[in-house]
Amino acid sequence: MVQTENIEKVYLFEKDRVNSFKKWPYSGSSPCNIQKMAEAGFYWQGDDKEDEDTSVCFVCGKVLDGWEESDDPWEEHKKHAPQCLFVKYGRPEAEMTCEEMLNLLEVILKGRIQSSYTALKDCLKAHIEKKRKEMTKQLSKN
Ligand SMILES: [Zn+2]
Repeated sequence: MVQTENIEKVYLFEKDRVNSFKKWPYSGSSPCNIQKMAEAGFYWQGDDKEDEDTSVCFVCGKVLDGWEESDDPWEEHKKHAPQCLFVKYGRPEAEMTCEEMLNLLEVILKGRIQSSYTALKDCLKAHIEKKRKEMTKQLSKN
């Protein structure tokens, strides 16, 4: 069975990125509207308080806030994350090939595995360090 809720969390599809925006300061006619943000690869990670325009690229994970109404989301993405594969493709989802979509998914999943691995490694290091200290303490008592 395909777990569709997992693919939504990856924000691979533009519609999932559009749906992530619970609030946004700029409306339909603005160059920086929700549709343009999602098209340029951003999903919303704001909250109800001061960080209401915090947005993240679904491929490179670049976090940007402080958006101006006249900002072009593609231009901002290019400026702040020129290494991003989505920026390199430089086209909205509708103009992408299936292979390109899969390449994006590969980059996203590799990034997630890497960060899970790093978190696990840090956890293990902390655990070993704690054990080492306990043993040292124990030895000094004897
Ligand atoms: Zn990016």
